Amino acid sequence: MAVDSAISSPVGPPACEKDAKALQFIEEMTKNCDEVQENVLSEILAQNAGTEYLQQWNLAGATDRETFKSKVPVVGYEDLQPYIQRIANGDRSPILSSHPISEFLTSSGTSAGERKLMPTIAAEMDRRQKLYSLLMPVMNLYVPGLDKGKGLYFLFIKAEAKTPSGLVARPVLTSYYKSQQFKTRPFDPYNVYTSPNETILCVDAFQSMYSQMLCGLVYREQVLRCGAVFASGLVRAIKFLQLNWKQLALDIESGNLNPKITDPAIRECVSKIVKPDPELARFVRDECCEGNWEGIITRIWPNTKYLDVIVTGAMAQYIPILDYYSGNLPKTCTMYASSECYFGLNLTPMVKPSEVCYTIMPNMGYFEFIPHDPSNPVTISPDSPPHLLDLADLEIGKEYELVISTYSGLCRYRVGDILQVKGFYNSAPQFKFIRRKNVLLSIDADKTDETELQTAVENASELLKEFNTTVVEYTSYGDTKTIPGHYVIYWELLVKDPSTGPTDDVLDRCCLAMEESLNSVYRQSRVADNSIGPLEIRIVQNGTFEELMDYAISRGASINQYKVPRCVSFTPIMELLDSRVVSVHFSPAPPHWTSERRF
Ligand code: AMP
Repeated sequence: MAVDSAISSPVGPPACEKDAKALQFIEEMTKNCDEVQENVLSEILAQNAGTEYLQQWNLAGATDRETFKSKVPVVGYEDLQPYIQRIANGDRSPILSSHPISEFLTSSGTSAGERKLMPTIAAEMDRRQKLYSLLMPVMNLYVPGLDKGKGLYFLFIKAEAKTPSGLVARPVLTSYYKSQQFKTRPFDPYNVYTSPNETILCVDAFQSMYSQMLCGLVYREQVLRCGAVFASGLVRAIKFLQLNWKQLALDIESGNLNPKITDPAIRECVSKIVKPDPELARFVRDECCEGNWEGIITRIWPNTKYLDVIVTGAMAQYIPILDYYSGNLPKTCTMYASSECYFGLNLTPMVKPSEVCYTIMPNMGYFEFIPHDPSNPVTISPDSPPHLLDLADLEIGKEYELVISTYSGLCRYRVGDILQVKGFYNSAPQFKFIRRKNVLLSIDADKTDETELQTAVENASELLKEFNTTVVEYTSYGDTKTIPGHYVIYWELLVKDPSTGPTDDVLDRCCLAMEESLNSVYRQSRVADNSIGPLEIRIVQNGTFEELMDYAISRGASINQYKVPRCVSFTPIMELLDSRVVSVHFSPAPPHWTSERRF
């Protein structure tokens, strides 16, 4: 393809015939965005015309946008939950989709403390695979020679659960890595990983990370790019190296694998890769022994050209630490996706994180947009369907909330993401990811909203009752200066009688009680993945929250409308809070979590 100069310049020619085809596909999709969308909706409606869900809206076989928009309501997860529950319980009738539900994808968004369940169909895997297949052809335009080495990617699967009817429920990436599409992918010189499949496909987080790091060290000179899905994953990998380099060096020196790696498939494949190499072992020790982690990525993997990690949205908080570890290597955010639907890709992956835009591929689903203007919110009610905009109707500079309809049977489903149009590639809008609605705290995959935080504070403060103590005000902060990051909750207490106030031990237990109340994604990250550290409560002096209000008012907030922010990140506010801390408490134990879930 003559890659349009709008993708960016300077760009090279397609790296190979396969890439040329992929780029041609992007051209076709983005040039005919509206037409493709019309066809996708019509296909979805025709395919699912007989479903119970669509039947109730009396489309009478219509597959056009106008009828669809006038008859089908815009919904959220709670509206669909009764249907989803029936599928989970084993009802095989065509409820949402006329195609059989192949599995449930568990979103990191939660409902009543559990991951949301997204029913999916087999054909969706091919659509996801198609989007993945476009990523390297775009990257090859900007970074030549990626076929001359390997990618060090830290990729993980998570525990699966089974619904009462025997369908598996697992995160979308676990589903993808376990699929034949991934496991038996044809060799592609532009997409060779240092991690053998066996190391990725081990559910034990330690064994998986250890073996992937070990292979990454062995292949260190061949590594041309380092990555994980999200920035938090790569930061965690480097922390893992900091904690485990001695044992890793020992394995490299002797060629024998750490006995803690018990997974037979990993042992078999990694033992073929790791051979005694005293020189490499010495190198690893020399680089790590002084505890200097600045530039560690480029020291250990000197040929790394970029970091392939998502640093947009909540992940932006990890940019400084990644810059520190990598001496400011470029960070590429290649893709924008969710459990509900994979949306699109970044056509200019080498831009700065603040300039990253994603182009939604119109073949992935049918996309609609609710104009998002906090001063003039759109009311969504089943009786008066709002006028939602199509991909082709959007305007540069405006913000929108994303609504999707998918082949799997989601119809006009609000994803919760707020996007801003930054420009167009051909006729396809390019979006900056602004934020996810209602997310207060996020360290890794967790997303904690205001209600969950409020409930957690209420539950924990039950422990204070017998000490005649109440929490009068609170706020929170996602601290990513520690690795792993952790939640910090500032509490101002009213202690009726200081001589019988809560002890340190009680306040420590309050931390744990908060963690027990948080959603399952948080607790899984704490327990199984170790990607979130123990929750911390900082008790502040009496009057601190009044000072916070004075500060906000001095900066122009209205005294009548002032509300305590339930999450803070603005440095002067943090400094004020931290200067008033009287005691600090940490959760003494991990909260309860099991891979079993309630259905
Ligand atoms: P999940 O439901 O766990 O698959 O999470 C999907 C959500 O993760 C999306 O709806 C976004 O809020 C967020 N997300 C996914 N990709 C990106 C990205 N590239 N940049 C920012 N946020 C993202």
